[in-house]
Amino acid sequence: MNLKNSKFYKRIQELRHLSKEKIRKDREQRSRVTRIIDMALSERRPNPASDEERVSSPTSKIPFTQKSLPSPCCRSKRIKSKKKAHQSDGDYRPKAGQAAACSSVKLATSETDTKHEGFIQLNQKCFRVACIRRQDAALVQEEERSISDSKSTICVSNSRYAMIGKISKALGYKLVKESKLWNILWSDSFPGVELFKNMKRFQQINHFPGMIEICRKDLLSRNLNRMQKFYPHDYKIFPKTWMLPADYGDAMNYALNHRRTFILKPDSGAQGRGIWLTNDLKTIGPHERLICQTYVHRPLLIDGYKFDLRVYTLVTSVDPLRIFVYNEGLARFATNKYVEPTPGNANDLYMHLTNYSVNKRNSQYEMCDNDDCGSKRKLSAINNWMRRHNYNVEEFWSNVDDVIIKTVLSAWPVLKHNYHACFPGHDKIQACFEILGFDILVDWKLKPYILEVNHSPSFHTNEQVDREVKRPLIRDTLTLVSTVLADKKQIMREDRKRVKQRLLKSKGETLQRPRLLSGTSRVEASPNPNAGATGDPEIDSLAQQIAWEESHMGNFRRIMPPPDPAKINYYSRFYGQTNQVSIFAETAASKKREDLARKMRIQIEEKKAKQMQMLNGRPKREARVKRLSTMLPRAVREKNRIHLYRLQEHWTPGFISEAEERLRHTWLQMRTEAIRNMKIAENVFSTLYETGNLTNTDMVVYPHLYHNVQNGHDIKVTA
Ligand code: ADP
Repeated sequence: MNLKNSKFYKRIQELRHLSKEKIRKDREQRSRVTRIIDMALSERRPNPASDEERVSSPTSKIPFTQKSLPSPCCRSKRIKSKKKAHQSDGDYRPKAGQAAACSSVKLATSETDTKHEGFIQLNQKCFRVACIRRQDAALVQEEERSISDSKSTICVSNSRYAMIGKISKALGYKLVKESKLWNILWSDSFPGVELFKNMKRFQQINHFPGMIEICRKDLLSRNLNRMQKFYPHDYKIFPKTWMLPADYGDAMNYALNHRRTFILKPDSGAQGRGIWLTNDLKTIGPHERLICQTYVHRPLLIDGYKFDLRVYTLVTSVDPLRIFVYNEGLARFATNKYVEPTPGNANDLYMHLTNYSVNKRNSQYEMCDNDDCGSKRKLSAINNWMRRHNYNVEEFWSNVDDVIIKTVLSAWPVLKHNYHACFPGHDKIQACFEILGFDILVDWKLKPYILEVNHSPSFHTNEQVDREVKRPLIRDTLTLVSTVLADKKQIMREDRKRVKQRLLKSKGETLQRPRLLSGTSRVEASPNPNAGATGDPEIDSLAQQIAWEESHMGNFRRIMPPPDPAKINYYSRFYGQTNQVSIFAETAASKKREDLARKMRIQIEEKKAKQMQMLNGRPKREARVKRLSTMLPRAVREKNRIHLYRLQEHWTPGFISEAEERLRHTWLQMRTEAIRNMKIAENVFSTLYETGNLTNTDMVVYPHLYHNVQNGHDIKVTA
C-alpha cells in the first residue's frame, strides 16, 4: 500500500501546512506590532514646536503644555493607512457636511495649522480646550483621511436596520458578531446592565444607562414636572401633564376650573397606539394608568395640516454633558386638514395625530419627491417655509435647542450616576453615545413643546426623504463618535498588564486603581484649570475627544455646552437639581407613603411636645382626660383613636402591594407556627397559674389549658 496516498498522510500534510501558515502570520503580526510601537513612540516624543495645548477657564486663559496629545486623526496605524491610500478609491471620503466641517476647521487658521477647539464642561464650570497642530502637507492628507483606515469593528446584529451595517462598512468598519471584541455595539434596544459592566475601555455602545428616564412617557413627565416645580418659569417646555392614577385628583381639579381638551396616552406606548382626546375626565376610571396632557389646540399649520418635528439629537457624553443636534430632520404631517377639537372630530386620528404609523394608513397620505409637499418633509423645507412666511427661524431653533437641553438636564443626575456606576474604568473614550429622536410640537406662536423622546428612532428608509435625512445622519454620527481615539490593542495590552500586576502583587500591597479618578472626584478635581497641567490622562483623553468632535461635526451643531458663553451660566443652575434616583418616586404608592410619613412626623412632634409639657407640669384637666382614657379597655381606646384619626385626616388606605401582603401573611404564619412549636402560650399560662395571676378571661379564652393544669398535667412538656 502506498503510504503517500493514504488519508492519514494527507491529513498530516494538511496540518503541517496550516501550522506553517500560522507561524508565518504570527511572525508578520509581531513585526507589525513592533513597527507600530516604534511609530507611536516617535509620535509621542515631546515636540514643543508642534504640539501646544491650552486649557483655560472662560474668564482666564491658563496655558499649559502637555507631554503629548496625538491628533485624533493620527493613529498609530499610519503605515497601514498609507499603503491603503494608494490602493483604491473605494474608501469612504467624508462627503458634503463632513468635508465642510473639516475645511472650516482648516480655514480658521493658516493653511498648515489646524486648531481644534472645544469645551469641557464639568458640572457647573466650563473650560475651553484648544489644540493647535502645525501640519505639513502629508499630515493634512492624513487628517482628511476618514476613519476608513482604522480597523474599528462594529456589531450591528442587534439592529434591524440594514442601513447601519451598510454605512458602517462604507466607513471602513468591520462588521463582527456580538461575541467578538467590537469597538461599537449598535443595538435597537436598551442593553442589560451586565453588558454595560463588561465593556472594555475601547468599546462604545449606542445607549446611555438611564436614558430611559426621558424616553418613557411617564418617566419623562415625572422628571419634567419635578423640574417645573423647581424652575416654574424656565420649564414651560411641555404641555401640562398628569400621571394617572397618582395625579387623578389634581387633573380633575384642573378640569373643573379650565375648559380644556385633554389627550390621554398609555404611559409607555408608542406610534400613536391607545391615544384619544376628551374634554370630560370623569370618563376615566380612577385606577387607569395613563398620561393625561392638555391638548395643544392651536398648533402651527402648514397648508392647513398639523405637523410635528422629529429632531435628531446626539449625546456623546453625560459628564461633561455634550449634546449635538442634527441640522436636518423630518416633519411628519397629519393627513386630514386640522380643525380645533370638537366632540364630532375628536376621534379623527388622521387630523389630530401626526404619527407616520397612524397616517400611512390613510389614503390621503402623500409621498412626494418635491421638498414642499408630501406628508413627510425635511426640516430644511420647513425652515424655508418659515422664512417665506417671515418667521424668525434662528430664534425658533434656539428655542428648540433650549427644550432639548432642558429635557436632557431633567435626567442628568441619573445619567451621570448610572454612567459612573457602570463605567468606572472607562478613561480613554466615552463608553456611550446615543441618537435620540425628539418629537417637538409647535404652536401657532412658534413655541416648541416636547412631546416625546425616542431612544431608538426609526431608521426605516421607505421614502426618498427618509434616505436623504437618515443616511447622512448615521454617517455623521459614526464619524463623530470617538472610537478611533482608543487604541484597542494598546488598551488590551495595558489591561493584561494590570491583571498580571494585580496577580503578582502581594496581599499587603495596595492595588493601583484602573481608573485614575472616579466620576465625582474627577468633577471635583477638575474645576482647577491647571488640572490638565498635571498630565491627568483622563482629562487629556477628554480634551482629545472634544477636539475630535469639534472637528468632525458634519451636519451636527453643538448645543451643549452652548456656543454662547452667556448661556453657560444660565444652564448651569439646572445641574443643581435634587437627585431623585429612585424609580418609585412620585408614584401613587410613594405619594401615600410620603403622606403617611408626614403625618407620623407631626404625631411624633406632638408627642414630644406633650412629653415636654409633662416635664414642665401638665395642666390639670388634660391629666384627668388622660387618666380617664387609660381606664378604657385597650381595644376600645385603639378603635377610638383610629376612628378619630380617619375622621380628622380623611384617611384612605394607601396602595397595597399584593406581593408585600403575601410576604406579610407568610411571616405571620411562620410566627404562629413558632409560637405553637415552642409552646410559648402554654409556658405563659402555666407561669401565670403557678404565680396565681391567672384571670377569668384567661380561663375562658384557653379552657383546654386551664383544664389540663387543673388536672395536674405539665402543659409545658410536648406530648
Ligand atoms: P406616541 O409615542 O404614541 O407617538 P406621542 O406623545 O408622540 O405618542 O403623541 C402622538 C401624537 O399625538 C403626536 O405626534 C402629536 O401629533 C399628538 N399629540 C401628542 N400630545 C399632544 C398634545 N399635548 N397636544 C397636541 N397634540 C398632541
